[in-house]
Amino acid sequence: MDLRTLIRDVPDFPKPGIIFKDITPLLGHPQALAQAINAMAEPYLGKGITQVVGIESRGFILAPSVALRLGCGFVPVRKPGKLPWKSKRRSYGLEYGKDAIEIHEDSLSERDTVLVVDDVLATGGTMEAAIELVTGCGAKVFGAAFLIDLAFLGGAKRVLAPVSAVLTYR
Ligand code: AMP
Repeated sequence: MDLRTLIRDVPDFPKPGIIFKDITPLLGHPQALAQAINAMAEPYLGKGITQVVGIESRGFILAPSVALRLGCGFVPVRKPGKLPWKSKRRSYGLEYGKDAIEIHEDSLSERDTVLVVDDVLATGGTMEAAIELVTGCGAKVFGAAFLIDLAFLGGAKRVLAPVSAVLTYR
């Protein structure tokens, strides 16, 4: 099945000039959803991944399913002030704004090999910050998995780990 037909381009959302990749048509299609999750997990089967880190918000939709496929746990990276326990924070620039993310400081250790998951790779700032949080906990980042890579923005250059994406837009 061609998953591209289930990604909807929404011009000028959430700001003028941004073409937002809306993944909800794909999420609502049972076979497409299964195909997307399997394709995200497949390169990492048998690679010794111990935890899948998902980035709020849309990374949360995909990462737990990828974790189940890999037989791993799921660790949330959240927007500031959402995590209840002691946390580490990183600030970063977005394609459309500025933000910060946090992780529980005891959620990962040097024994962990981590796959970090998000829906879209744009400028790479979000994933760069997430990887800094993971390595700051002492864990090793095996890779960064996306449903969509907006490769024309060159975000992979900022990601200090091997990048995989199910759909690449050039
Ligand atoms: P960036 O840090 O620039 O790589 O932005 C990645 C984050 O912003 C991801 O969590 C995406 O969900 C979101 N994002 C950025 N650009 C888009 C876009 N054009 N369509 C959908 N989501 C986007």
